[in-house]
Amino acid sequence: MTIAVLAVQGAFAEHENVLERLGIPYVELRKKEDLFIKYDGLILPGGESTVQGKLLKELGMFDTIKEQIQDGMPVLATCAGMILLADKVENDHREYFKTLPVTVKRNAYGRQLGSFYTEQEFKGIGVIPMTFIRAPYIDSVENGVDILSKENGHIVAVRYNNQLALSFHPELDNDHRIHEYFSHMVQSHMR
Ligand code: GLN
Repeated sequence: MTIAVLAVQGAFAEHENVLERLGIPYVELRKKEDLFIKYDGLILPGGESTVQGKLLKELGMFDTIKEQIQDGMPVLATCAGMILLADKVENDHREYFKTLPVTVKRNAYGRQLGSFYTEQEFKGIGVIPMTFIRAPYIDSVENGVDILSKENGHIVAVRYNNQLALSFHPELDNDHRIHEYFSHMVQSHMR
């Protein structure tokens, strides 16, 4: 199994550290040619969705990644990555992959004071640490989207078939169960 980590901007190195600790091989996606390496799953890290979206389009990577996701490639999207997947962003006119049928709110906890830590129940795993950094949350989901976790009444984790999207940053805490959960998604897709 090889996991690709989108590495154009944001917190990609932190995801790579977790993959290293779990002994999962990974490749970095920095340019269009990298998309033709064989990989089995994709991580869209946190960062700045507007910058990531712009770079993906400028680098000519956008359409291929969208096709890979639509074709069933397992994807773990955290924070800005979740915004890139969302069908609708209620407080931003920009549009990205639109493969995940949810409506998200960007910077939903406020811009500056929006960073915090909590521990919440995550369906199928148990209580996990959650670090939020100027995070989005999900306002509403369409049919078929499984809600995996809520924080203070807000949806912060969902799964829709091959797409796992989180408002928080599992790569920043010393608990790797989310990455393990994702690696199981990748393994079952490979069978
Ligand atoms: N606020 C960022 C955005 O809107 C997301 C923050 C993050 O990824 N930690 O893209």
